[in-house]
Amino acid sequence: MRRPIVAGNWKLHGSRADNARLVEDLTAQIPSKPAGQCIVCPPLVYVQEVGRLLRGSSIELGAQDVCAETHGAFTGEVSAAMLKDVGAEYVIVGHSERRLIYRESDQLVARKFQAAQSKSLVPILCLGEQLAERDADRTKDVIGRQLDAVLELVGIDAFAHAVIAYEPVWAIGTGRNATPAQAQEVHHFIRTRVAARAAAVAARLRILYGGSMKPDNVRALMAEVDVDGGLVGGASLSAESFVRLVKEGSTP
Ligand code: PEP
Repeated sequence: MRRPIVAGNWKLHGSRADNARLVEDLTAQIPSKPAGQCIVCPPLVYVQEVGRLLRGSSIELGAQDVCAETHGAFTGEVSAAMLKDVGAEYVIVGHSERRLIYRESDQLVARKFQAAQSKSLVPILCLGEQLAERDADRTKDVIGRQLDAVLELVGIDAFAHAVIAYEPVWAIGTGRNATPAQAQEVHHFIRTRVAARAAAVAARLRILYGGSMKPDNVRALMAEVDVDGGLVGGASLSAESFVRLVKEGSTP
């Protein structure tokens, strides 16, 4: 059995006061021993403080990005060691907003994945196609290419300590989620591609869905056999919706 994960990506939102309110509401309502794992990923500047606010709760801490380099003249960047040093345990790599807005290549994403693992951070590797790619029937080519770039750099065993998020770009922040069948088709494709290298790793690998996941669609998405949870943007910013997502998403 794969333990579900619901992870909140706060993106470029929040303030110290907003974060304190949100964490207070979350920690009050999310059980101390939840059926599934719950992770929040605040903006980098707040990671340490949110970690302190989460102490003693079951909610785990992640970051939204990491530098592929370890140290040196890379102005504005934050390394995996630094994230680990302030208490992060997970880090999102290859989010489509970083791939598209900041032009991160598949190879750079692979290096970020490797950098995260080198400091025992668990990478949450995002994969996803754009609408034009789906319309051109290229979804599996794109997902396969993004996945293979990481597999080629780090090898299959690294996926025993990683999470994948399938996030169709056309569903992120648009209110238009993939149907459960569309999500399942791609999740199955990802698991099969990993299984071709190591069946045991694929069987244990958590593959999250991301893209307008909400309390009213989480159950149907999670009912699919290869959907093991969600990476959630907008709905993670309100305690009411995130708590419902965590509860609905962790109920077998
Ligand atoms: C995301 O940012 O990873 C995401 C899935 O956003 P949203 O839930 O708002 O679509």
